[in-house]
This record gives sequence, C-alpha cells and structure tokens, in this order.
Amino acid sequence: MKIGILAVQGDFEAHAATLARMGAEYVFVRTARDLNGVDVVILPGGESTTQWKFLVEEGLDKALVEHAAEGGAIFGTCAGAILLAKEVRNPEQDSLKLADIAVIRNGYGRQLASDVRQGATAISPEPIEMVFIRAPIIERVGPDVEVLAKFEGNPVLIRQGRILIATFHPELTTDTTVHEYFLRIAGAGGLHAGSSDPRLEPTRPGKLWAREHSGEYVRRLRSDQE
Ligand code: GLN
Repeated sequence: MKIGILAVQGDFEAHAATLARMGAEYVFVRTARDLNGVDVVILPGGESTTQWKFLVEEGLDKALVEHAAEGGAIFGTCAGAILLAKEVRNPEQDSLKLADIAVIRNGYGRQLASDVRQGATAISPEPIEMVFIRAPIIERVGPDVEVLAKFEGNPVLIRQGRILIATFHPELTTDTTVHEYFLRIAGAGGLHAGSSDPRLEPTRPGKLWAREHSGEYVRRLRSDQE
C-alpha cells in the first residue's frame, strides 16, 4: 500500500509526521507522475485556491479524478476538504467534485479562526481533539455521504465510499485515530506504531503535536490567507 501526500503547499509535513508515527511509509506528490503506483492520497490543509492552481497546472486535477475512478482512496483535511467538494462557495471555486457536499470557505468566520475542541465521532469511543483553522462549513451533504462527526450542528468529518473528509486537522494532534480509520477504509491494515524520526518522540496523549513542535505548520496555515 503506497500512500501519497500532496505536497505543493500547506501542512503536508504534519501528515507525513503522523504517518511516520504510525509506522506507515509515504511519498510526497508534486506532479501527476508522482501518483504512479500510489494507492491512497492525502490532501493536506493550507490554502485551497493556491493548491487548486497547482493541481491544474500539473494536471494533477485530472490524475486525482482518475485515481478516485479507479477506486483509490483520498483523505482531505480542511483545504483538502474544499478541493474534494462538489460545490465550493465564498467565493465559488472549481474543485475535484469527488464528494457530494457543498462547503462554505472560512464559514465559521472569526469564531473558528483557530481553535481546538474535543468532539465525539462515530469512529472511536473516545472524543478526539479537533483543531480548526479558518475551517470551511459543510452546509450540504448528499444521500451517499455518511456523517461521522458534527460540531455545532455542522458535519466536520464525513465519508463517501473511499473518500474521507475532515474540516479540522487531525494531523496537528498526537491522536492518529482519523488517519488509522482512513487507512482502514483504504484497505491498509496491520500498521504498527513506531518511528525513528527524531521530531516524533512520543508526546503525552492529547497534547497538541503542533504546539510542541514550534507551531510552524499552524503558523503557515494561519498566514496563508488570501
Ligand atoms: N481557509 C482555507 C481555504 O479556504 C483552508 C484553511 C485550512 O486548510 N486550515 O482554503
């Protein structure tokens, strides 16, 4: 099982760190060629307009749609959620349209400009830490979409077949629950924790990984404003 992380902009290194902590191997995807042999793809948080321009320039938009059509799983967080949505508002923008949802960019306004909450989900008995940074609101979900978690009445974690979408950033916490769930629905099993990456020394459960590691990803996500 080869995992590719879109690495053109945003917090792709945080996803890489999470996968490394789980003992999963990954490659960074920057061109359509990089997708060769990749079974599952992660679209990170960041700035969706910038990311979309890169995708189109590199032909990665078409390559990702083909990847999904061939049954490849995709997990998008925050900006990645926007890229996957069928409809994007505030402002309208083109997208991969692989998940039957409508999203409003920066939909929570200042309220969730940057916040950490605990939330219940359908994928784990324990609440998980949800890091919201200028998150989109999912305002409509189609009939084939399964809502796995809500925050203040709006879906924040959804699944449509082999597409998983979080409007928060599980990659910025020490909790690997959402990534593990994704790899399960993607068909990868038997991953074991453990990594030799020195940035990934074990952290106390529930403590924000990003906070412990200089906050560079969070800073980048906050500053990538249009
Ligand atoms: N607000 C960003 C956008 O619209 C997404 C923010 C994020 O990924 N943290 O693209």
